[in-house]
Amino acid sequence: MNIMNELELEVFEKENITCHDVENLYSEYMEGDLPISLADRLREHICECPQCQDFAYLYTQVIDVASQIKDTITLSDDVKNRLHERLNKELGLNLPIITTDRK
Ligand SMILES: [Zn+2]
Repeated sequence: MNIMNELELEVFEKENITCHDVENLYSEYMEGDLPISLADRLREHICECPQCQDFAYLYTQVIDVASQIKDTITLSDDVKNRLHERLNKELGLNLPIITTDRK
């Protein structure tokens, strides 16, 4: 079993997870990095939440496009950032943008 990070643990301990939690954990969820119990709760929320279904759909679409460009792609920070930027813009979310600016 994976050791949960702080964010995962925080969400795990909540009685009801929110759309914001789903947004924060979705990339880990998609990559299968979440503990099963937490992934199940995310899935439950998404099943009942149209807003998160939209989010999931768009996320999957963006990943699809990315994987068509390159078959065996692992999401680099750069790709993740662009994905998050797009999702933020399209859905008005606040996904974290990782800054790896080394100038
Ligand atoms: Zn939701």
